[in-house]
Amino acid sequence: MIALEKVRKVYPGGVVALDDVSLTIAAGSLVAIVGPSGSGKSTLLHLIGALDVPSGGVVRIDGQDVSGLSDAGLSRLRASTIGFVFQQFHLAPGMSALDNVADGLLYAGVGLASRRRQAASALARVGLGHRLSHRPHELSGGERQRVAIARAVLGDPPLLLADEPTGNLDSAAGAAVMGILSELHRAGTTVVVITHDRDIAASLPRQIAMRDGRLS
Ligand code: ADP
Ligand code: MG
Repeated sequence: MIALEKVRKVYPGGVVALDDVSLTIAAGSLVAIVGPSGSGKSTLLHLIGALDVPSGGVVRIDGQDVSGLSDAGLSRLRASTIGFVFQQFHLAPGMSALDNVADGLLYAGVGLASRRRQAASALARVGLGHRLSHRPHELSGGERQRVAIARAVLGDPPLLLADEPTGNLDSAAGAAVMGILSELHRAGTTVVVITHDRDIAASLPRQIAMRDGRLS
């Protein structure tokens, strides 16, 4: 699903965020990316998610070399292949859970009724079938993150990337979120999770450890 060869990422200003990173992640894996703050975890996830391109080396996602893609090509790859979940949920305030999720298909050319139908089933999948009309401020942190996961898996993307998905949650809500990610993995999705929580990382089948922009 993902192959990196000697990948380097240098940000403007000269920060070397990734240096000589080579790794592969097979389709159907469940992987943790771990390491201290500033070690390059989010940068790595952005490259794996086609949100950015490397400064050197090769990043292949689902067989495609991202360096050869235009911005439109990167957007298409993301839309067809990748779901994202972030620590901060990124839900629209004042909008129902149903419409927050339905908005995930806004650019896929799907009509509103069909988007809402798919959104309702995605919310049921994360255990929120009874919270469709609640707005984000009427939901707990854990429920908000489950709405964000429902939005991320709406088109059933083969790859799900999560950057500290439990970072703002208490341990019970965090465990529920990890349970949902494990279920998605069991159903066939490739799942990559950044976490600084050692227990969560240790509970996953594979850990990719980073330090100072390199695998460690
Ligand atoms: P982590 O997610 O492990 O905390 P990051 O990938 O966010 O680490 O950052 C790795 C390094 O790159 C850090 O030194 C950070 O300050 C730097 N960095 C991250 N994003 C940018 C950016 N957009 N511009 C410049 N430097 C950045
Ligand atoms: Mg980070």
